[in-house]
Amino acid sequence: LMNLTKKLIEIRSMLLSIDQNDALKLPSIVVIGSQSSGKSSVLEAIVGHEFLPKGNNMVTRRPIELTLVHTPTPSGEKPSEYGEFPGLGLGKIHSFSDIQRTLTDMNLAVPASEAVSNDPIDLRIYSPFVPDLTLIDLPGYVQITSLDQPESLKEKIAALCDKYIREPNIILAVCAADVDLANSPALRASRKVDPLGLRTIGVVTKMDLVPPEQGAAILGGNRYPLHLGYVGVVAKAVGKGKMERTSDVVKRRENDFFGAHKDIYISGSLMVGTDTLRKRLMEVLESSMASSLHGITNAVQLELEEATYQFKVQYNDRRITAESYVAETMDILKARFQAAKAEFSKPIIREKLKMMLDDKVMDVLEQLYWMDKRTKELGDLAVDSRVKGPEDVDSYWKHKLDAASSLLTKSGVGRDSTLLVADGLRAMIDSIASGEPFTYHSRAAERLVSFSHDILRDRIGVAADQVENCIKPYKYEVDVEGREWDLGRERAIGLFEKEVALCEGKLKEIRKKIGGSRRLGALVGYVRNLEEKDKERKERRLKGATVGSSGDVGEESEETTPESYRYPAAQILDAKHAMLYTDRISILKLRMIALKSKRCKTGPENDVFCPEAFLNVVADKLAYTSTMFLNIELLDQFFYEFPREIDSRLLYDLDRKEIVEFARENPTVRRHLDLQDRKDKLEEVRVE
Ligand code: GDP
Repeated sequence: LMNLTKKLIEIRSMLLSIDQNDALKLPSIVVIGSQSSGKSSVLEAIVGHEFLPKGNNMVTRRPIELTLVHTPTPSGEKPSEYGEFPGLGLGKIHSFSDIQRTLTDMNLAVPASEAVSNDPIDLRIYSPFVPDLTLIDLPGYVQITSLDQPESLKEKIAALCDKYIREPNIILAVCAADVDLANSPALRASRKVDPLGLRTIGVVTKMDLVPPEQGAAILGGNRYPLHLGYVGVVAKAVGKGKMERTSDVVKRRENDFFGAHKDIYISGSLMVGTDTLRKRLMEVLESSMASSLHGITNAVQLELEEATYQFKVQYNDRRITAESYVAETMDILKARFQAAKAEFSKPIIREKLKMMLDDKVMDVLEQLYWMDKRTKELGDLAVDSRVKGPEDVDSYWKHKLDAASSLLTKSGVGRDSTLLVADGLRAMIDSIASGEPFTYHSRAAERLVSFSHDILRDRIGVAADQVENCIKPYKYEVDVEGREWDLGRERAIGLFEKEVALCEGKLKEIRKKIGGSRRLGALVGYVRNLEEKDKERKERRLKGATVGSSGDVGEESEETTPESYRYPAAQILDAKHAMLYTDRISILKLRMIALKSKRCKTGPENDVFCPEAFLNVVADKLAYTSTMFLNIELLDQFFYEFPREIDSRLLYDLDRKEIVEFARENPTVRRHLDLQDRKDKLEEVRVE
């Protein structure tokens, strides 16, 4: 039978951990009494040690849920007693004065303005000398509110006690023998919720302070009958020796006292002594637990059925653990990574680098050729039959080509291509880290990103240098073969066609904005005229400045005739853009004619006439070489290091608690785990 109570106490705390639902509550013993009634002394006599907070001021400010666990001493071993605060994670505490200090601290942590708190302190005591019991110690009822206590304190304590003395709990009403029972707040409170006294035990302390006859009359319980009866005790433990257990001192005193009045107490078959009290409490708790059991069993069964049903419909009975979720997350991460890796294949990288270099080629062409008025002449040379070959043209064009090639090869291709690929990798990791399930795991996502940045930071410098080093030969000479030449020429034509289309698109937009080609034409004519005049004026002023004439003041004022206000500034700007696009289109068209000319088609020896084809080949070679070395110096390294970094640092070094925390960051997983846990606990309770 002893074991049943123990089991039920375990079940009780398990049920409490499921939820606070009253239907799932097994009874506990609630200790109430007014201040100084001897409540602490009784509890300490039951436990066998002084461990409760002491002081003039009210020190029990929070309920103490005290679970006593009887732990038999294995033969040949010394008995071991210790306490635990499961909520604090302090481990086993072997010194009862440490327990007392901890309780005092926890009580004093309640702000004085609040005075009492509803938040219970969970304390477990394991000892071979205690019975299996659960006791809840509540703040003592206050008789007189002192000056430094808030007015509402009395009500607050009463409300707290009311909450705990509800069914199915057993009420331990502590009253002092030397105070009229009619004035006992504990009995008064208990009568309100348990008028027949079916679940109230009276404990009458300080029996030594009243004459035996009077004491016996109280314990007889005729005035305020209680079904579970009254137990008289002498719980005062003062004068004990240092090494003596409180319970032994109390026992000796009680033996002395009640023994001296045997005729009255013992033969009157009254219940006296803390030993008797303990036994009585065990009996009462056990039978109360047993009778609650039926209701509990039903409630548990119902709850379990509900949980099982929900588990089936919501999760199809699929069980998960925090660990399995972590493993799954790692798998998802690796799969995403693997899939993203495909985006960094050599052909794709080469294509991206080529696009970047195409832009560079366009810049170089613009800078060296399109802005040069003589470039139109170069087109004519390409189709001029009097020109036999490159040797017949001005060395000007030879220098231009060399300058263009060197501008391209020395434009920082190593750094730019490395950064382009590194940016791609960073964006890839960012997108993985910002997708499910990392949306729930911001810390893990941050770590993911920071690992990738660390690796890239380490590699970028070296990779850029390596690539730059490998393209070095092209800075001096580029050999072009016939086949390469053909491809380069075609690609250049293709790029120009795209550029022409782009410019035409822009022109169309402007035309639409201005309101048709005629209006744009007029606007452009006007702007041309303005620019013409501007030029003339500048020239004149230059001349005037050398001559020293001052006669152009009048002309200046003539310039600012209302004519310049004919069009708004924004339209003037549009016209200027339109002129740029038109010029660009015409030069691109001229260059395409050159690129398609017989001379250009002949082969790479005519590179002077068609720098575009040549530069395109150079760009292609740069892209190819850069890709090769970026692959070795950056991509291979990254794809090797990153998964290892994840394995060893992302979630691998979490302990059990952190794994659970991580899994619970995901609300879906949290709900799943909670329901599963609830179902498991209910199942366990049912089995027991
Ligand atoms: P609490 O405020 O209800 O917890 O009461 P305490 O346990 O602190 O006891 C109040 C006072 O009564 C203390 O001085 C105790 O030593 C004393 N006391 C407690 N039980 C007895 C008893 O059975 N006999 C006598 N004479 N004094 C007691």
